[in-house]
Amino acid sequence: MRNRIVVVEDEPDIADLLALYFGKEGWIVHVCHDGRSGLETVRARQPDLVVLDIGLPGDLSGLEVCRELRATSDLPVLFLTARDDEIDRILGLELGADDYVTKPFSPREVVARVKAILRRGRIQAVSTYSFGNLVVDLDRQEVTLDSQVVGLATQEFRLLRYLCENRGKVLSRQQLLDGAWGEDWYGDARTVDVHVRQLRMKLGELLPLLTVRGVGYRLD
Ligand code: CA
Repeated sequence: MRNRIVVVEDEPDIADLLALYFGKEGWIVHVCHDGRSGLETVRARQPDLVVLDIGLPGDLSGLEVCRELRATSDLPVLFLTARDDEIDRILGLELGADDYVTKPFSPREVVARVKAILRRGRIQAVSTYSFGNLVVDLDRQEVTLDSQVVGLATQEFRLLRYLCENRGKVLSRQQLLDGAWGEDWYGDARTVDVHVRQLRMKLGELLPLLTVRGVGYRLD
């Protein structure tokens, strides 16, 4: 799956440069110019990593954005700093930043740091999800029910994978389309309902996949 990165940086030149280099890596990039829209974008897009400038205009600095994020998730954060005293604050506050880069930087260096952080995350990533006797093994791309392999279509598996990776979160149909079909896919949100119906039929009641009325779905 393609990496999705949110860049929160108020200096357009820097933001554009990062977006360009991240784009070359094949990553999906969302650029925001202040902390408030950065937080909103993270919540809406659920990226793999955030690149966060510390000195931001508006009522939220990068440090405050990070604190807000940390309250609800372990999303990796790479800070951009302009000054040495900001580095002290990152380290002193123990905000759980995964790394930082000091301006001016080379975009290649930022790309390398992002890759390193994502690699670290991958190693620790869970690859098996169990729901009673129903087991979803992401590495083997296999679902078993009472140790019997259940045949899923490729797209059904991709949807199930995305739901597992976001277990406990309410996901809108659009988020599911973006996450499991990809943003380049053009189609109707009802496609999601059709595939959910298939998953429920094949996997039965052991799959705790709930319909959240008016919003979408949640895998508990
Ligand atoms: Ca700035």
